[in-house]
Amino acid sequence: MTAKILDGLAIAKAIKEEVAEDVRELARRHIRPGLAAVLTGSNPASQIYVNNKVKTCQQLGIYSEKHELPDETTTDELLELIAWLNEKDDIDGILIQLPLPPHIDTVRVLDSVDPTKDVDGFHPLNVGRLVQNRPTLVPCTPAGIVELLDRYDIPVEGRRAVILGRSNIVGKPVALLLMHRHATVTVCHSRTRDLPAVAREADILVSAMGRKAMVTAEYVKPGAVVIDVGINRVTDLAEVEELFGPDEKRRQSVKTKGYTLVGDVHPKSVSRVAGYLTPVPGGVGPLTIAMLMKNTVRAARRRRGLDHE
Ligand code: NDP
Repeated sequence: MTAKILDGLAIAKAIKEEVAEDVRELARRHIRPGLAAVLTGSNPASQIYVNNKVKTCQQLGIYSEKHELPDETTTDELLELIAWLNEKDDIDGILIQLPLPPHIDTVRVLDSVDPTKDVDGFHPLNVGRLVQNRPTLVPCTPAGIVELLDRYDIPVEGRRAVILGRSNIVGKPVALLLMHRHATVTVCHSRTRDLPAVAREADILVSAMGRKAMVTAEYVKPGAVVIDVGINRVTDLAEVEELFGPDEKRRQSVKTKGYTLVGDVHPKSVSRVAGYLTPVPGGVGPLTIAMLMKNTVRAARRRRGLDHE
């Protein structure tokens, strides 16, 4: 068996076209959704992510502003900026790019975002609503995974889902979303015993560990749907060959950029067993940005009482 590739780029494109249409519709009522992205410190990966998010806003007609703060920013300074953004009427969504520098109190910072502008869905009020399966702003990566399953008509109800990872950003919310869609969900973490055996029970396996190519065929039930959230860098050409086989594009990427990306899933090994597989890059990543755009428009509508339409 060779797994069918779930094309996150194509699905993200379709979602973004729908969002652009919503933005045009709001423009007819003189409403322009706005997103503020707050980047603290000099993490190069975070800079790329924030730039991509701002660029996507521009493509879709969403107003955006980028706030770049130096490494030595204090928690209080960040709280002050967020308080100002909370009040700013042209801002519907506030995105605090994570991770924050270690001296900053991340929990206090995320808790200070106005829940109605919390487009990442990290505020405890929105998390609570998600737990109770009430309408809310849902974290973007988990929401993107559900959209992907929906748009490929992959059934969830009654199926066994296993999530590798229990973070607040991915593991827990994706477990909740799949449970609300009537999957039977198991959440695994670093203390789980015999991870491959638990993972093999999954009809839908979601891996969000940040462990390079750890998930091999041994973890996968034949025909399972495998969603790879992990993002890891590979810098060694021999390793590229071992993970992807002869792949000239990947080799070129290592030679020019110094690296290529691989997820938590070993692509060569797992694609022989799985029924469906998301690639890295081009799987979950683009969906995350598309869902951020969707959440921003949603927040804009909700703040104006238009959500019922
Ligand atoms: P975290 O580091 O917050 O969480 C990782 C989770 O994986 C933890 O629950 C941890 O267990 C578990 N874990 C780690 N190692 C093992 C192991 N050997 N066996 C079993 N469980 C393990 O990561 P995030 O959830 O923030 O991100 C996960 C990955 O997804 C990263 O690679 C990240 O870059 C990527 N990511 C990708 C996004 C995208 O848009 N594509 C968006 C967000 C994240 P424990 O709790 O016991 O420590």
